[in-house]
Amino acid sequence: MKSATDGELAITRGSWVKVICGASNQDIPSISDLCAVYGAAGVQCIDVAADSGVISAAKKGLDWVEAKYGIRPWLMISVSDGKDNHFRKARFDPKRCPIDCTRPCERICPTEAISKVGVDLSRCYGCGRCLSACPLDLIDEKYKLLTNNEITSLISSASPDAVEIHTAPGRRKSFEEILKALKIAKVNLKRIAVSCGAEAHGIKTEALSQLLWERHNSLKQNKLKPIWQLDGRPMSGDLGPGTGRIAISLWEKIHDMAPPGPLQLAGGTNEETIKHLPNGRGPAGIAFGGVARKIIKPWLEEAQSRNISLRDWPEGWQEALQTANQLVEPWLSRKPKNLQDC
Ligand code: SF4
Ligand code: SF4
Repeated sequence: MKSATDGELAITRGSWVKVICGASNQDIPSISDLCAVYGAAGVQCIDVAADSGVISAAKKGLDWVEAKYGIRPWLMISVSDGKDNHFRKARFDPKRCPIDCTRPCERICPTEAISKVGVDLSRCYGCGRCLSACPLDLIDEKYKLLTNNEITSLISSASPDAVEIHTAPGRRKSFEEILKALKIAKVNLKRIAVSCGAEAHGIKTEALSQLLWERHNSLKQNKLKPIWQLDGRPMSGDLGPGTGRIAISLWEKIHDMAPPGPLQLAGGTNEETIKHLPNGRGPAGIAFGGVARKIIKPWLEEAQSRNISLRDWPEGWQEALQTANQLVEPWLSRKPKNLQDC
């Protein structure tokens, strides 16, 4: 039986692995299976969207892992202190599209979320590529942000191990409002992941560092411990040649100017990322999003087409677990000689 390293211990060892399971995926059975696969693979944390349906699906998968393997990763719930593309969906009314449109929106969408019937919300991860592709400007964006009262109520009922706050320059006040909402929820949170990148907000590394120091002060006042999530690419689903290196390059630029606390890579991370780490050094860990979902997708889809859970299909489960292991194992077994940032 595989044993997962405790989250705090993994952070100090540089072998922390988080999987982002439910940022956009609204397919509830798949979320349970995805959480189960990566939980069984031994990751320390599963990060899901702040949606009660998604959270209960994730818990179902984690309960199953705990019962079968005796291990349980942290559950982290993601919220945002302002408009954020992780909380965005594209939408349009297909009835308004001319029949002779060459459908550039459909061709540009990286997740095949667009078809003749419109946008499949379970596939759309809010990257925004289609918005500017439509010559008639028929596609708009919709953000789903919770109020602070809704955050309090959701966190209080879900009782997660950790919360992630997506933040951006100029949002210190709303960040602190979320911390207040968390305090009212009275949940003992092990860590607050602060998610921000330079590229997404068009800022330089120095400005990102300044933002992180501001958030550090706010967290310190509230006696909360951070994980600094460095988003190399704005979205975890932004995969492509070279994206795996971008988060590392951001880490290299910022680690001497960052506030105290573990630095974790995210955004475009993939199988290649670990190969680009400087020898014997590196961040406290990594988050896998789009790639983690993509490599397991064939088994999730096949289970769906059989109308069963992946957990009830032994051959498919084994293959999916093996595939998940190949992605996360190099990080889980990582032992950097000189870990500077934990
Ligand atoms: S291009 Fe991006 S925003 Fe548009 S539907 Fe596809 S995933 Fe969603
Ligand atoms: S590009 Fe615009 S008009 Fe053409 S199919 Fe897409 S949404 Fe419709």
